[in-house]
Amino acid sequence: MVGAGHVGASFAYALVLSGLASEIVLIDADRRRAEGEAMDLAHAVPFAKPARIWDGDYPDCAGAAVTVVAAGGGQRPDETRLDLARRNAAIAASIAQRVGEVNPGGTILVATNPVDVLAHVAWRSSGLPAERVIGSGTILDTARFRWLLSDHLGVDPHSVHGFVIGEHGDSEVPVWSSANVAGMRIPDFCAANGIPFDASIVHGIDARTREAAYEIIERKGATYYAVGAGLLRIVEAILRDQRTVLSVSALTRGVHGIEDVYLSLPAIVGRRGVERVLQLNLSVVEAAALRRSAEILRGALDGLPAPA
Ligand code: NAD
Repeated sequence: MVGAGHVGASFAYALVLSGLASEIVLIDADRRRAEGEAMDLAHAVPFAKPARIWDGDYPDCAGAAVTVVAAGGGQRPDETRLDLARRNAAIAASIAQRVGEVNPGGTILVATNPVDVLAHVAWRSSGLPAERVIGSGTILDTARFRWLLSDHLGVDPHSVHGFVIGEHGDSEVPVWSSANVAGMRIPDFCAANGIPFDASIVHGIDARTREAAYEIIERKGATYYAVGAGLLRIVEAILRDQRTVLSVSALTRGVHGIEDVYLSLPAIVGRRGVERVLQLNLSVVEAAALRRSAEILRGALDGLPAPA
């Protein structure tokens, strides 16, 4: 785990409780912080599963199945995720380069924002194949979308299927055309069960999905528990080779006609990282919104200083 701040520590805590990892090393520019988190997490081990947890440095990444990167600044209240790009790109590049050098056989999972742009930067700097450099992408936005839908529909979010695709950020695209409960599209499920459904409900859920991070940051300064749980879900799919379909940020290679941009689409995630990015049956409006999101991300990437 590189970056033992709110997100890194929340993920590490979830990882300790999950029992998935036998060794967890925390690396942070603030070594004392990493040390303190490692001590605190280690004291949870007697209540969890055996694991060795310590604060370390890049050579300790050698042999790691996954290195999660959540180092860098957080989003300030008046700042979009893309504003963060310049601040965090240099950090992501240097971390990915160092991790790639000591652990060329592992997978890097980037959570630092703007996650799509930084996953691309990390891939270019790491020397790893693109399928093993993944951004957490819209894993969290998809969870928020499913949770909001579940709240409206009165069913368990596990029973709500749907994805948010594109940028993890303002141009993200909730895919209503294929969202469903038990194979029933949302308008049909609502009609069959006497649940209100109209354009204002769609817009409300879209807006609350997109603006959730801003809402939380305004209240408590940062978001970290849900993304920590989402990172754990991705890591579990990799470690256990589950081939789970998750919305993560991966290099597009012509899917939906989009080339050479990291963005989120449902992808099969397993031991080899992103094994396949899936092409969805999008509505015309959704496909156009996805292309616009890709253009925004391409612009953000092109706006970064050239790699050293
Ligand atoms: P934080 O400030 O609490 O922690 C960041 C940590 O990174 C700090 O401990 C800092 O010392 C460390 N750090 C900074 N530069 C470093 C470097 N060069 N090498 C090693 N460590 C370094 O921030 P946070 O709230 O944990 O957020 C971390 C990142 O995660 C932010 O970019 C935030 O926007 C992002 N985030 C992403 C998602 C998502 O869905 N992908 C959700 C929430 C937050």
